[in-house]
Amino acid sequence: MNTTATCGVVPASVERRPIEHTYVTASNMRDDHQQHNTDLVNTATDITTNPFKADFPLLTHEHDLVFLDSAATAQRPQSVLDAQQNFYERLNSNPLRGLYRLSVEATQAIADVRQTTASFIGAPSADEIVFTRNATESLNLLARSLGNTVVHAGDEVCITIMEHHSNLIPWQQLCAATGAHLVYMRPDDQGVLTDATIEQSIGPKTRIVSVAHVSNVLGVENPITKIARRAHEVGALCIVDGAQSAPHLPIDVAKLGCDAFAFSAHKLFGPMGIGVMWARRDLLEAMPPMLTGGEMIDWVTETDAGWAPIPQKFEAGTQDAAGIAGLGAAIDYIESIGHATLQKREQTLAASCVHALQSLPYINVIGPDDPHRHVGVVSFNVDGIHPHDVASILDAQNIAIRAGHHCAQPLLHWMGIDSCCRASVALYNDQGDIDRLVDGLQKVWAIFHGTN
Ligand code: PMP
Repeated sequence: MNTTATCGVVPASVERRPIEHTYVTASNMRDDHQQHNTDLVNTATDITTNPFKADFPLLTHEHDLVFLDSAATAQRPQSVLDAQQNFYERLNSNPLRGLYRLSVEATQAIADVRQTTASFIGAPSADEIVFTRNATESLNLLARSLGNTVVHAGDEVCITIMEHHSNLIPWQQLCAATGAHLVYMRPDDQGVLTDATIEQSIGPKTRIVSVAHVSNVLGVENPITKIARRAHEVGALCIVDGAQSAPHLPIDVAKLGCDAFAFSAHKLFGPMGIGVMWARRDLLEAMPPMLTGGEMIDWVTETDAGWAPIPQKFEAGTQDAAGIAGLGAAIDYIESIGHATLQKREQTLAASCVHALQSLPYINVIGPDDPHRHVGVVSFNVDGIHPHDVASILDAQNIAIRAGHHCAQPLLHWMGIDSCCRASVALYNDQGDIDRLVDGLQKVWAIFHGTN
């Protein structure tokens, strides 16, 4: 089986330095925060220390686990678990349905998180935030509801070859149903969507451009502002799959210039089962609902129904209110740390991981050569060893990485590989985790070749 990448394969040459570990507890760190803000930021962004791990009960419980699969789902801090528990202990009642105090409070709790979420992504109004189950549902909603409204036979929908299946199959299905054509933008060997590619791929027939903000395999950040500008030049809409960017980058949909943005709570320290779809108010108002039933109507007769205003029009049935409370706590957690600190720490971790893997001659790092261009994600292959074997041998050392096609089969096929390994980081990782990964990979190699 071919496990050699043809895109962005980096030869190894970088020496690894031995690192001293100084662990700082979360509570120490918070005390410091009030008094020595600058010191704290330095501590937080110093990956040889780990001020965050103690906030995450699973990582405390599994103290020997090296968790490098946060791109699949992140761990949750205690505050998120508490928020969910608190909903059931203190607020549990069906939001929107009741006129009694508890139901009104539950309704208000959801409204508060809607506002928090709008501010988190720079959306102009809380009404434009629709809660879904996950990014996949958000993207399906956009493809079915918005897509069906604006895409017709002969039109084009433009995506990239690096899309996760969640931002690919809905558009494939839409094109099959309407007779539109699906156009793929392909990056250069450093994962860059060039200006020429953007210009040539998005043209007068394009109605929708839907692009991952950050690729879940290459780890690159795509030039959304340029893509949105080009889409608007030709009268198309720009949708962004933010599943891998919202956990790592500050998001401002106004600055990005996009028309819709989708992400999942569970990748940004929130609960599983909650997703977000933001779209411009005028688009939301023009879009028909995907699901119908309770909560989303204004009136119903035996033969007809009228829809509730946005966002309720898109939120049929009882919501996961405790999950929404958890999303609010996850955003509060990120904001209590600050995007600058979070981003610097995660960039340093990802770059350190790329450097470390580049130092092993039998590892091919997939994606950009520049370690600083990997946003959270470092994909790689080990020469001649199947990614599933790599992941299993690492698992035996209590190191969790992902191996497989990462729900991006067209990308992997285009790169000439069937599968690859992926290590992904979050703020609770540290240099010790990277060192354990490198040691683990040396053992993988030794098992197959008897030497490091
Ligand atoms: N898009 C990207 C880029 C992703 O990485 C993922 C999750 N791996 C998704 C969409 C889908 O997210 P979810 O499974 O939470 O719907």
